[in-house]
Amino acid sequence: MGHKVTLLPGDGIGPEVTAAMRQCVDVTGVKIDWEVHQVGEFAIKEHGTPMPAHVIESIRKNKVAIKGPIVTPIGTGFRSVNVLLRQELDLYACVRPTKYYEGTQAKTDKLDIVIFRENTEDLYAGIEFEKESSECLQLLALINKLQPKKLSRDVGISIKPISVKGTRRLIKAACEYAVKNNRQKVTIVHKANIMKYTDGLFLSEGLDVAKDYEDKLIVRDCIVDNLCMQLVQRPQHFDILACPNLYGDIVSDLCAGLVGGLGIAPGANIGDQYALFEPVHGSAPKYAGLNKCNPTATILSAVLMLQYLNEMDAAHRLEAAVKAVLKEGKHVTYDLKTNRDDPSAASTTQMADAICAKL
Ligand code: NAD
Repeated sequence: MGHKVTLLPGDGIGPEVTAAMRQCVDVTGVKIDWEVHQVGEFAIKEHGTPMPAHVIESIRKNKVAIKGPIVTPIGTGFRSVNVLLRQELDLYACVRPTKYYEGTQAKTDKLDIVIFRENTEDLYAGIEFEKESSECLQLLALINKLQPKKLSRDVGISIKPISVKGTRRLIKAACEYAVKNNRQKVTIVHKANIMKYTDGLFLSEGLDVAKDYEDKLIVRDCIVDNLCMQLVQRPQHFDILACPNLYGDIVSDLCAGLVGGLGIAPGANIGDQYALFEPVHGSAPKYAGLNKCNPTATILSAVLMLQYLNEMDAAHRLEAAVKAVLKEGKHVTYDLKTNRDDPSAASTTQMADAICAKL
């Protein structure tokens, strides 16, 4: 019997890049029973909601899912499906391996970093108060009463919760991953010099968790702005980065840019019970239906999924096939060409076919 996996094609370029991914995974020979469900805009049309309840049920049942990007419709009142999935399934660690592949438009060949981004808290917790709303004014009054710095009436407020539990489990996941994958160093990323009670907590709890790994790992910390500069100048100094939610989001796009763009950046959302794999990029709506975008990020997300399913040989072969196609540079999409208008650029399906031919 095959592995049961929930597949959410998503919107925009999602259906194209996930079809390419599915083709490649099937050619590895690993037996997967794909359970396909529509989410996002397609699901709104059919079910009146971007995230029907049966989708969450399917992931809870299968425990493993892979998805394309999903649009967050602006101004419709629908919550972000991505945030909803992470919160509902308590997928607290967003894991983004980013590394140099030969043949890409990378700015450096010295980057091989895995980012662990906390996925449930921080400024992305979704606790926000609109300027001049009654809730915002009540909160404002309380804040002005509790501390000396007075806020003016025209502020909007976003809350940044960072908890002991949320921090400890993220840092533990990063350290466990480092040990399991023979990585040497974990860097805790923060701005504790300014935000003492949130980032300060992330740093102190993180260092406390790391004590258990003293004999196996080097654990350091780095202030996020300094980290960004150092990532550009000497990326080889970093190995695993453990970040609160917001910094993790920004730093992973920076790292993706350094190794050649969003088209090749994979990701995983991992909790204690479920795992959801997805590319870092969004739905790139202007390219939807053009069979033009790079499927690599989604295919490399499937490599992470195969590793999670303990299909190590298939994961290794699939990554090697991607590597070989990138290195040859013949059957790659427009974003991997020196000139983005290069007429010899491959389509999404041609690139997937080239990868399958190497398997
Ligand atoms: P985006 O990542 O969709 O696109 C930005 C640009 O990056 C594109 O215009 C394109 O030039 C390039 N790009 C992205 N993916 C590519 C690929 N596979 N191949 C080649 N080039 C690629 O970001 P955006 O425009 O800010 O967001 C569009 C929509 O996607 C929004 O609705 C946003 O909410 C959503 N989004 C979803 C997810 C997710 O589902 N996890 C993540 C990010 C954004």
